[in-house]
Amino acid sequence: MTVRMPSEGDGPISGAGTLLGILRDGQARTRAELVQLTGLARSTLAQRLDALVSQQWIVPTEEAVSSGGRPAVAFTFNRSARVVLAADLGATHARIAVTDLATEVLAERAAEMPIDRGPEPTLTWLQRTFEEMLTETGHSMAEVCGIGVGLPGPVEHGSGRPVNPPIMPGWDGFPVPEWLGGRLGVPVLADNDVNIMALGEHWAARPEADHLIFVKIGTGIGCGIISDRRLHRGAQGAAGDIGHIRVASALDTVCRCGNAGCLEAVAGGAAMAARLRAQGVEAADSRDVVRLVRGGNTQAVQLIRQAGREIGDVLASIVNFFNPSVIVIGGDLSEAGEQVLAGLREVIYSRSLPLATQHLTITASELGDRAGVIGAAVMVVDHVLSPGTVDRSVAPD
Ligand SMILES: [Zn+2]
Repeated sequence: MTVRMPSEGDGPISGAGTLLGILRDGQARTRAELVQLTGLARSTLAQRLDALVSQQWIVPTEEAVSSGGRPAVAFTFNRSARVVLAADLGATHARIAVTDLATEVLAERAAEMPIDRGPEPTLTWLQRTFEEMLTETGHSMAEVCGIGVGLPGPVEHGSGRPVNPPIMPGWDGFPVPEWLGGRLGVPVLADNDVNIMALGEHWAARPEADHLIFVKIGTGIGCGIISDRRLHRGAQGAAGDIGHIRVASALDTVCRCGNAGCLEAVAGGAAMAARLRAQGVEAADSRDVVRLVRGGNTQAVQLIRQAGREIGDVLASIVNFFNPSVIVIGGDLSEAGEQVLAGLREVIYSRSLPLATQHLTITASELGDRAGVIGAAVMVVDHVLSPGTVDRSVAPD
């Protein structure tokens, strides 16, 4: 984990957030270890530790010393100091979780909840579900440090408002953070679902990767980009929308966005289900496609392998352009496993530059359908525990 070391110019309290950033990895450290790690004077370190202990962000523990001497006091991140509410709202189903500050799931629910019911019915349901789950886990709203929500469409970074989301009627410009935050009295952050999946997978499964791409293949196709260990959202929050990149094989096909030739219109789950129906095979959505592939249906297997190659073709250009070290494949269709990964790898390794693929890993998501809620929690914790926010929380009134 890369941490920014506090500079000696920081005041005793203003550097507390950076110190917490070091302890967030969960490892207990003694004063001596922290002095060595930060280069701070003992007195400055003591003031920062006191400030963090008083806010319960860290707790003192007794570390046994091997020399047989008196046990030294060590400090460790208090992951139970607050709880986080996280929601991953998809096109048709939702996953909700209560987590601790290390994003461990304390309670979780999955439910059918079509997003096209509109913002108020969906968010009213979400508010009620959050309240029920808090009660179940024995926590109260006063212990919640923030709420993270993933939405299945473009979300403007900063305001957290959906922008022209194609499958979310009534949601365009809806003030999700203000609406929910106003009712529950805690800060709310909203982002595109693929962005939070990238955050979740990076945090939980691939923390060592500096440059990672998370590709969601579900009803549609999109990707989240981790660049230099941070989520890259682009100027308006629209980065990673690879589903609407033009591909030669789709030129005769009109996409739900209104253009012809989009990748999603030939390789997305909805497109594959439609193609199977045209061949007389019953398939309503991406989950049916996965079921058919797992059952060995020849047409479905051929289609998904071809979809893997189509997506691989687009990703081969992205690999040349961005040079990621890991590409993670998630979303409903990633559950078809090797059937989708095979075609994808084949094209990426043959089309991308050798230098870009030399150390490239292409793998299925480890978190699976939990990537979104874990990522929503990561988004909240990163915000709440950012050095500036922590410094303000420990500043004397
Ligand atoms: Zn399109």
